[in-house]
Amino acid sequence: MQLKTILNRVQKFKCFIYESVRLTDHADGMRLEARLRPRSNSLAMCSVCRKPAPGYDMLPVRRFEFVPVWGIKVFFVYRPRRVDCRDCGVKVEHMPWVKGKSHRTVAYEWFLARWAKRLSWKEVAEAFCTSWESVFRSVEMAVTWGRTHQDLFGIQAIGVDEIKWQRGHNYLTLVYQIDEHSKRLLWVGEKRTVKTLLRFFQWFGTERSHALRYACTDMWRPYLKVIAKKASQAIHILDRFHIMAHINKAIDEVRAQEARELKTQGYEPVLTKSRWLLLKRPENLTEQQESKLSELLHYNLRSIRSYLLKEEFQFFWAYQSPYWAGKFMDKWCTKTMRSKIEPMKKVAKMLRRHRTLLLNWFKAKGQMSSGVVEGFNTNIIS
Ligand SMILES: [Zn+2]
Repeated sequence: MQLKTILNRVQKFKCFIYESVRLTDHADGMRLEARLRPRSNSLAMCSVCRKPAPGYDMLPVRRFEFVPVWGIKVFFVYRPRRVDCRDCGVKVEHMPWVKGKSHRTVAYEWFLARWAKRLSWKEVAEAFCTSWESVFRSVEMAVTWGRTHQDLFGIQAIGVDEIKWQRGHNYLTLVYQIDEHSKRLLWVGEKRTVKTLLRFFQWFGTERSHALRYACTDMWRPYLKVIAKKASQAIHILDRFHIMAHINKAIDEVRAQEARELKTQGYEPVLTKSRWLLLKRPENLTEQQESKLSELLHYNLRSIRSYLLKEEFQFFWAYQSPYWAGKFMDKWCTKTMRSKIEPMKKVAKMLRRHRTLLLNWFKAKGQMSSGVVEGFNTNIIS
């Protein structure tokens, strides 16, 4: 069977045919190149208005990445025509396998976007030898498609998350539906400003925004501001994973600093290679790690005291009543403020500032499924 036959089964075009498929060698490995040409007698269509138009000239050959097979990259190779459209002027022709100026076929973008639901974007990029940005753009395409084609009825809970681009200090804002029956990425926007999230609500519409019952975010101020303004009726909860991540970050800071101090003072390096001991949950430790941890606990180190504070804070989540949870939190914060451990004090101050939102978690807990209040622990960790 020829590859052409397979291509005609999986991706057939009315006005274009596969001329040839060949295997070529490149620095990054083999490639299958499927050459396309217009079917004879078929007129080129204007990419703007999609109406047939007389030809104008030809552009240089372009390559569009298609879904890989057997670990081999696949490309469509085509020389686009330009048309002289009566309404739009000189435009490149419409090519049904691609959207806009992308170098990826729509089929390939869907392929990446589907994998991105199961793996982190970074993992998808690695698995298919493509860039993080390709994966992000593919997800963006799928989400944009979903926005116009999917039913948005009955969305009660949303979660807002941010991720950092691999390059520089750029962020993306991601909005998920986190209802028990339907968890999906609804919206992607560049940056993480007030304006970014406002754009989401603008698209989402006032009616749907007012029907929201829960919104889950981290403590990023612009998000808090926008939620308070656009969905003030919703119970706003802070994502548990993000809060624990703040504490873990503080512990990490304490440990790194203390390890440096001990080294300069010439003490035995008890803290080296202890990073994961202090960040992991005790139930996830191996036996060896567990014995190292209990050994460490003998030392009255700031890292260890921070670790114990974190473990104590875990009890917070087990409370049922917002009142008692609040009492517990206040006590924990007082104790932490007295610890004289600066990074931990910073966390305590932050928790105090967000006391009301933090306690909303317990209000929501009674009403929402645990899947929702436990946070939306996405796999998008860039
Ligand atoms: Zn046109």
